[in-house]
Amino acid sequence: MQPTIARVALPVPLDKTFDYLLPGGDLPIVGGRVVVPFGRQSLVGIVIEISEKTEVSLQHLKSISQILDRAPVWSTELYELLRWCSQYYVHPLGDVFNIALPGALRKKRRAEFTSIKEWRLTDIGRNQLMSNFGRAVKQAKVMQMLQSGSVSHQEFIDAEVGSTVLKTLQDKGWIESLETLPKIKHWPSAVESEQEKPTLNQEQAIAIAAVNNVEGFACYLLDGVTGSGKTEVYLNLITPVLERGEQALVLVPEIGLTPQTIQRFESRFNVPVEVIHSGLNESERLNAWLSARDKAAGIVIGTRSAVFTPFEHLGIIIVDEEHDASYKQQDTLRYHARDVAIMRAHKERIPIVLGSATPALETIHNALSGKYHHLQLTKRAGNATPTTNKVLDIKGLYLESGLSAPLIAEMRQHLEAGNQVLLFLNRRGFSPALMCHECGWLAECYRCESYYTYYQKNNEMCCHHCGSRKPVVRQCQSCGSSHVVTVGVGTEQLESHLTDLFPEFKSIRIDRDSTRKKGQLESALASILKGEYQILIGTQMLAKGHHFPNVTLVALLDVDGALYSSDFRASERFAQLYTQVAGRAGRASKKGEVVLQTHHPEHSLLQGLLNSPYGQFGKMVLGERKMALLPPFTHLSLLRAEANDSAVAELFLRQVRLTLESNPLFDETCMVLGPTPSPITKRAGKARWQMMLQTSERSLMQKILLSSKPVIQTLPESKKVRWGIDRDPQDLS
Ligand code: ADP
Ligand code: ZN
Ligand code: ZN
Repeated sequence: MQPTIARVALPVPLDKTFDYLLPGGDLPIVGGRVVVPFGRQSLVGIVIEISEKTEVSLQHLKSISQILDRAPVWSTELYELLRWCSQYYVHPLGDVFNIALPGALRKKRRAEFTSIKEWRLTDIGRNQLMSNFGRAVKQAKVMQMLQSGSVSHQEFIDAEVGSTVLKTLQDKGWIESLETLPKIKHWPSAVESEQEKPTLNQEQAIAIAAVNNVEGFACYLLDGVTGSGKTEVYLNLITPVLERGEQALVLVPEIGLTPQTIQRFESRFNVPVEVIHSGLNESERLNAWLSARDKAAGIVIGTRSAVFTPFEHLGIIIVDEEHDASYKQQDTLRYHARDVAIMRAHKERIPIVLGSATPALETIHNALSGKYHHLQLTKRAGNATPTTNKVLDIKGLYLESGLSAPLIAEMRQHLEAGNQVLLFLNRRGFSPALMCHECGWLAECYRCESYYTYYQKNNEMCCHHCGSRKPVVRQCQSCGSSHVVTVGVGTEQLESHLTDLFPEFKSIRIDRDSTRKKGQLESALASILKGEYQILIGTQMLAKGHHFPNVTLVALLDVDGALYSSDFRASERFAQLYTQVAGRAGRASKKGEVVLQTHHPEHSLLQGLLNSPYGQFGKMVLGERKMALLPPFTHLSLLRAEANDSAVAELFLRQVRLTLESNPLFDETCMVLGPTPSPITKRAGKARWQMMLQTSERSLMQKILLSSKPVIQTLPESKKVRWGIDRDPQDLS
């Protein structure tokens, strides 16, 4: 029989594929993109099969309207990986495909390099470089940026130069634009640059040999204390891969993607390095994607979604800071990039290295059980010295914007010795709440079950759950009193207070608010390294991967919240945070000190952490997890439901519970907990409920979810709620 139809996966929230008639002329290709009519829309989908059979009668079928690709978008291995993601995360295949595609290819763009618009000086313009631009500061900035060569249009936009400024200069005849295709560089025969490399220590050499000695798939945990030279190991592992003509994928956490990291890869190798991050525009991202696919790039460094980058010949995957929470996608396809990367390495039959100073407990468990090879770097590289730590009991002490007198004295010592001090406070804004001093009323977001954070500088209140902003309340909405006070301390308040406390030293704040604009984080980090600031204030953003050789004192201002949390991962998270933050101190030859302020110095978690290295602490917590039947000893999926009406969300989950429990596969090793209201019971106006499914076997979890989902979708309540499945949930709120 003649093939008559194409089965197409479309980016719609339905667990099915759609049949379309083949167009006249060329046949579409399996794994390639096509454009099809869908209702009143036209969608881009992936052909997954060409067939002569369809269950729909032919006269009801529509035709494919356009064929976009002549070749499959992905290799067989990557295509299989995406199918695995769809099954494992119980997510529609068409949507998985869509998420894995770069934005440009989700639209009807061709999978071809696109030209990038650039600007350069004309001869007339070059003669104007010395002119006085007076108040035309933006024009002066453009001319200055162009002084040493052409600059892309996007770079100007990022530098907050608008199109009109460029147009003005173009009209004057001083600058001109040109469209250029990215230059495809050829790989040189010497993949490494001439740069001097440190002599490896014994542990590093052993780790490198271990990975190089095995062929095919193997998973390694590179368990190395902060500053022990893990990056140096990665670089050494990549060299032979490139020499064989294969490529390397390096995954980094969102915030770990700093110029420092990228620069180390770029300066070590002569092959092109592509960096994939959220700041790229659509064309840049497509070019990076193509450059990896066509082996123009030797190394791709990227955040979470880079795990789906196509390669002509991938030779190794490295996941740096593998414990980092940003590897887990928190909406739609809730994948964990580390876990997907391991599956990818397996399918591609290549090694994967997971690096961390504070591995996830799941990873430690796999290393202890022999599933992963355990490689250890126990000493700091170079001449860095270990830190000392001190618990400061602040019970009854007066705190000035969160700082106790002994800490202030300690800070003064370090500052006066010419060193930098890092203050860690995981709370943005001026204060985490505003309260009526007369009656205790708290300003609460009307759309969420949460208090407004107060921002003094912008004179507004902001809800960190839904992002809504409001002018500051001047009057209590309960008793009418105008005596509204701030409660608690956030980084903004700490910053303003430090200026009074240490007028002779400069401080800088690094959190999500102060680094919202592109380039802000980079320039802040650069000025810290140059020593322009002596006091660094930061949230967990500052705890990650940075190398500040002059920081000798790190203080955690408030650790009590972490000691009393209901989330079973809280102790693991806190241990990671503490170890990472502490790792910022004494990275160079200067001795570092860590101070923790707490009201509970005797707390067992704190004592356990301070008195044993992270790995040993991890084993202890794993023991507790085993007793409590928690991951990694069991498997979890969180089912969430949101609705305007709380009762509807609860009722829906009750029905889901019945569905799960009546599944023939559900046995005595399975358990359902809930439904219960979510820890954040209301967000953006929606009531939130959740329920946990626990199984002892991973494969059973998979089978139960896959076979129950179609039944759940037929529940009448399912139409009235927004619901989703979160496999291996990381965030239980
Ligand atoms: P990590 O990634 O574990 O934090 P890095 O690879 O960044 O550690 O190494 C920390 C510092 O030590 C870097 O400045 C690096 O250049 C240096 N370093 C790494 N390995 C060695 C070595 N074998 N000898 C001397 N210095 C080293
Ligand atoms: Zn809100
Ligand atoms: Zn009041």
